[in-house]
Amino acid sequence: MAPYIDVPPSSRDDLLASACARWDAVLAARPDLEPAIDLQRRLITLVVDLTRTIDRGRLPRLSLPPKYVAAKLDRGVPAFAGEPIPLPVPALTAPLLELCSELAAGGAGAAAEHIRSAIESGSIEIGSLLAASLSRHQEAIREGAVHRGLAPDLVWLVAELAVSPFAHALQRALFSNAASDQSIADARARWDRGYCPACGSWPALAEVVGGRRVLRCSFCAAAWELNAYACIYCAESGEAFVTAAPDEERKDRRVEVCATCAGYLKTIDMPELSPFPLLAIADLETMDLDIAAMERGYARPPLKDFHHKGL
Ligand SMILES: [Zn+2]
Ligand SMILES: [Zn+2]
Repeated sequence: MAPYIDVPPSSRDDLLASACARWDAVLAARPDLEPAIDLQRRLITLVVDLTRTIDRGRLPRLSLPPKYVAAKLDRGVPAFAGEPIPLPVPALTAPLLELCSELAAGGAGAAAEHIRSAIESGSIEIGSLLAASLSRHQEAIREGAVHRGLAPDLVWLVAELAVSPFAHALQRALFSNAASDQSIADARARWDRGYCPACGSWPALAEVVGGRRVLRCSFCAAAWELNAYACIYCAESGEAFVTAAPDEERKDRRVEVCATCAGYLKTIDMPELSPFPLLAIADLETMDLDIAAMERGYARPPLKDFHHKGL
């Protein structure tokens, strides 16, 4: 069985202290990343504060019968896919606008200001934007952004940041060891797919803790293992699937690359799993691995689309 792993949430102070220590370490090694880290500091602080707001509020009950969720997982369909999940739009609105402003101040400039204006004027409907983000509907967000002359990647990013604390809370409400129904817990343990069992995202990276390779969703922070050591995208396990450290001196930071599907996954040794929302720091810390993989012609595939399969 490939276990799902419960990563308990940390307190706000612990999270921020641990985040600061990690940013300082990155800065010491890569002073050139200072602007990126400054921006991430502002964004993550907003996300951490929003997480507190979400945790204090009442989560909508996902009135999904456990056996139905279990059957869905067994068919390879993530738990959230195709479900109409009511979002706490009023609680997310101010943080969404603040995220736009922080991005504008942190380098995205007018492109982020335009998104903020489009949201404020109602040109973008907030509820639809956040729902599309929660259901990981990349195409809908892209089309809506292009149609309004907005930068699609930036719209995707602000929506993702704003809705991620809610996605994380839902993921825990459904899957955490304390909350989970037995039939869901069993189906979760049988989950042996490369994409997230809760939201369907590809993992941002794998954190290897004590020799266990744990896939991490950077959106909802789910943590899960696979039965086989193989490509997470196409299950290739032969010679076409290679794990290598681009820097000989840093064998703790590796990339899994697959010649069959041209996909790659960053794999890093960690003392412990990163709690939500610090996966974003792990992603930033390892940007050089993305560059090394992309220079060799590998890419992360687009998100899987669960929207046209008659769920
Ligand atoms: Zn997820
Ligand atoms: Zn592959």
